[in-house]
Amino acid sequence: MTFKTTAAVEETKAEVCALHAELLRWGLVTWTSGNVSGRVPGTDIVVIKPSGVSYDDLRPELMVVTDLDGKVLDGDLSPSSDAESHSYVYRHMPEVGGVVHTHSPYATAWAARAEPIPCVLTAMADEFGGEIPLGPFALIGSDDIGRGIVQTLEGHRSPAVIMQNHGVFTIGKGPKAAVKAAVMCEDVARTVHISRQLGEPVPIAPQHVDALYDRYQNVYGQQPAPEEK
Ligand SMILES: [Zn+2]
Repeated sequence: MTFKTTAAVEETKAEVCALHAELLRWGLVTWTSGNVSGRVPGTDIVVIKPSGVSYDDLRPELMVVTDLDGKVLDGDLSPSSDAESHSYVYRHMPEVGGVVHTHSPYATAWAARAEPIPCVLTAMADEFGGEIPLGPFALIGSDDIGRGIVQTLEGHRSPAVIMQNHGVFTIGKGPKAAVKAAVMCEDVARTVHISRQLGEPVPIAPQHVDALYDRYQNVYGQQPAPEEK
């Protein structure tokens, strides 16, 4: 078992490592919880955070390289305990190039109530194309979490799912897009939560959600926008 690294693998290790700082910066993680993974573009190789290493000590060379079954191909440390869930998503959603998991507090508060986050903000229509859906309760240590993520997100516009009693999983074309979805998920979870303290938030009509989503995904930003989605 000799794994020959490539420039693309090393680039993905550097990118995935650096993106963990964003989880801290946006207040999405505590201690060593939370993780980012990325698919090496065009391959069946995944780079993921090692288990139990504190954020300050993460370095690109400590990232763990796995195949799509979560088997370690390269790296001295064991992968994140969520690696199986990540690899299940990559196996079943070939368009996904990045996965993020957090227990960010406001979104996880919705998960604790087993309640999807209703689409009551234009920012939600833009980024998520509707509500942020709720995934099933699932125990750690089997395929159940991965299966729940895939079943909930397949055919859904949202790149984020809140897993019941657990926390947030997000997907993206690459790891940076998945991190962005995790940041936006927590942001809208907080705003809708605050709104609910004062009354019942007003839903956005479905045709307006569609129009907002279409504009944001296809028109918004600098054109042409090579920005990773
Ligand atoms: Zn978790």
